[in-house]
Amino acid sequence: MKTGPDSFSSSFADARARFREQAALAGGVLETIKHPELGPNGADLSTDVARFGPESAPATLVIISGTHGVEGFAGSGAQVDILKRGEMLKLPLDVSVVMIHAINPYGFAWCRRVTHENIDLNRNWIDFEKPLPSNPAYDEISQLVCPSEWSDGVVKSTTAALHAYAAAHSFDALLQAVTGGQYTHPKGIFYGGTGPSWSRITQTAIFKHYLKQSERVGIIDLHTGLGPYGYAEQMITASSESDAYSRACKWFGSTVTPVGGDDSASAEISGDGLSAAAPLLSNAEVTGVAWEFGTQPPLEVLHALRADAWLHAYGDPASAIGESIQQQMHRAFFIDEDFWKGMIVAQTLTAFREALAGLSTQPRRAKS
Ligand SMILES: [Zn+2]
Repeated sequence: MKTGPDSFSSSFADARARFREQAALAGGVLETIKHPELGPNGADLSTDVARFGPESAPATLVIISGTHGVEGFAGSGAQVDILKRGEMLKLPLDVSVVMIHAINPYGFAWCRRVTHENIDLNRNWIDFEKPLPSNPAYDEISQLVCPSEWSDGVVKSTTAALHAYAAAHSFDALLQAVTGGQYTHPKGIFYGGTGPSWSRITQTAIFKHYLKQSERVGIIDLHTGLGPYGYAEQMITASSESDAYSRACKWFGSTVTPVGGDDSASAEISGDGLSAAAPLLSNAEVTGVAWEFGTQPPLEVLHALRADAWLHAYGDPASAIGESIQQQMHRAFFIDEDFWKGMIVAQTLTAFREALAGLSTQPRRAKS
């Protein structure tokens, strides 16, 4: 069975089938949660969950792919690669593993970062009973970021205006304005929504069901699109004063990076799923880290996201330009090169083993 670059798929349907096949072969107990929408060509969409190891284990490692839809091409391949390598046969006796495949299957299948509600799932985990966070800087440039027309002329003039904004306020200020999250432009990018998305509701139910007995929970959430080519920034949203941060550094080393800090490729954000996991799992000690693999330079990625937002708000995904924008999105979040894929599987495997060692109080089992 070939591992490495051969673990990756070129469509959601293929990725889902491979994940289910390898999870079953590795002894996983599978569950399928159907999504209300359809994928390209009318194909069904679902989130798939596989549990390995004893249900009563006091510690559980959760590995999530596809929080940001299209980023699942990398995350799914990394999950499948771990399954193919026989890692599940060597779990410590006190740790179970829960793999969540494509928590945002709509975005995965349609090559979008967002959900079918145009929601960025990692801006959606806020308390909607409270006033929505404001982002006046995004309001100011919303028409430049996501114009209603996507002709060559409009792309050129709006991109130049965004460059001018960066020149006047700094590039970091532009990134913070655009990517920090916004709750007022439902057709825009990094939109957090006005209520919990299907993916948030589904992940909440998965956590409540699979982690109810866990005293210790580790979460590795696989992402792409920020930072240096192939390198995984280990992003943590817990405060650098917190026990969760200390544990993450103990497990993964000093390269664990607080989101929004000087060393991070990410802006400060609100409403991410890892921050929400600890209060959701009040029975457990939660250590959650996002693995963020770099792909293209930030302006290339931003350009793809702007085109994608236009396509689904004003254009036709089935048109020629629709096809080309979907390919542009795929290239922005997945590098179809063996070297890059090798970096993804190697770093995820390392993270997986380190997290198991961190969660377990027992020695690792010998290969049977
Ligand atoms: Zn992401």
